[in-house]
Amino acid sequence: MFKTIALQLIFSLYIVDKSDASDVVLKRSYEGPNTDGRHLLIRRFPAVEEFQSDIYEVFAKPYGYHLQTITAITVLKGDGESSIAGEIQFEQTPGGPVHIRGNITGLPVGKHGLHIHQSGDLRNGCAGLGGHFNPYMLQHGGPVDSIRHVGDLGNIKVEEGGSAEINMVDGLIQLTGFPRGVVGRAVVVSSDPDDYGRGGDAQSLLDGNSGKPLACGVIAYIR
Ligand SMILES: [Zn+2]
Repeated sequence: MFKTIALQLIFSLYIVDKSDASDVVLKRSYEGPNTDGRHLLIRRFPAVEEFQSDIYEVFAKPYGYHLQTITAITVLKGDGESSIAGEIQFEQTPGGPVHIRGNITGLPVGKHGLHIHQSGDLRNGCAGLGGHFNPYMLQHGGPVDSIRHVGDLGNIKVEEGGSAEINMVDGLIQLTGFPRGVVGRAVVVSSDPDDYGRGGDAQSLLDGNSGKPLACGVIAYIR
């Protein structure tokens, strides 16, 4: 029976490959044994030129982890003795972008970079979190640039009084799966504005000259 299922998966992938490449999620009826009418779902992640080919995820109800709204939370704390505090909530509906909403207090007035870093290991505070989360090994950019780190969420704006409201939508990060899943990694608020890689120097292409971390927290699933 296993062999039958494996052949069915290969056949389905072949169908997808020959269909409209712009489809991201395709539903195919799976007619093998013990299906109970479940759909086979195929999700396609487009290739990155000269780095990797297309990636396909294949799964079936009720194992599809991406078939319900997923929520995650980051509790931000200032690095060291700082009094910066905040919460950022992430919400993703099936196949949709991630809504990012939150509030941070205790920050210096002005713009500050907001990024997701590679690691969520807080044993050394905000200093040991690696670079911006960058699974495609691209250059740093702004949140709507086609060339960016997956972790590049842009800037937040802190008003008089030191608080910042966050309300944004990002179509690149994901709350599940490989290669763009961000849960377990860390959000970092940095000391300086992010220049989105347009600063004209080497550091700009690494982190947008956004300076040192002021506050950080791990992205964790809610329930
Ligand atoms: Zn970056």
